[in-house]
Amino acid sequence: MINVTDLKKTFGKHQVLKGITTQVDQGEVVALIGPSGSGKSTFLRCLNMLETPTSGTIAIDGIELTNPQTDIARVRQRIGMVFQHFHLFPHMTVLDNITFAPIEVKGIPPEAARSKAHELLARVGLSDKADSYPSKLSGGQKQRVAIARSLAMEPDILLFDEPTSALDPEMVKEVLSVIRGLADSGMTMLIVTHEMKFAREAADTIYFLDDGKLVERATPDSFFTRPQSERAVRFLEQVL
Ligand code: ADP
Ligand code: MG
Repeated sequence: MINVTDLKKTFGKHQVLKGITTQVDQGEVVALIGPSGSGKSTFLRCLNMLETPTSGTIAIDGIELTNPQTDIARVRQRIGMVFQHFHLFPHMTVLDNITFAPIEVKGIPPEAARSKAHELLARVGLSDKADSYPSKLSGGQKQRVAIARSLAMEPDILLFDEPTSALDPEMVKEVLSVIRGLADSGMTMLIVTHEMKFAREAADTIYFLDDGKLVERATPDSFFTRPQSERAVRFLEQVL
């Protein structure tokens, strides 16, 4: 579903991605782990063209994102992204946050968008919060709204960049369990996370990035019990 070939990204003189090649299958759940500054966010942001790759190719279902002819806005509609800091619209209710893009960008009739939003709120366990404003919600609730908002666009791929890093510990679980539910439902996902237990349990594949390179790509079992590189061994010693 996603094909990445020799992806490089340079900021000024600093090469942040040093040639990443990989494929992600439909329904595959990838956990991206690695030290701070290794390029995890940049990699994710290249996948939906929030960053323009310096060289290399990215194709989604055979549609080349890096081809100037491609209608990026259209492909991007198929890729949802959930950030560490939620990015909800503060002046809109939860329901309006969820229906805004489907109505304005996709042209879904407002009634249909609202009914879908209520379904999604039920799915993330927030049926009673439709009319609340984000400021009235806990961090975990905000992040679940952000996930519902992404799902409202009916993406084929969801990207998560440290979705639980800004949360108090007691809220991490409720968000991870929503993401886990999506994983089990067959959504294709790439998740940058520091939650090793979650990565091990929920992911099909672990990507270990270090210094702009995809150093290891392995099943969780193999990565966590038999890391192949010295860098991964050192990283796991620090985080486990
Ligand atoms: P990670 O998410 O693994 O912590 P990032 O992808 O955020 O790593 O960053 C990798 C490197 O790229 C870091 O050294 C960071 O400072 C640099 N970087 C990221 N974004 C930019 C940018 N917009 N301009 C310049 N440097 C950047
Ligand atoms: Mg990051």
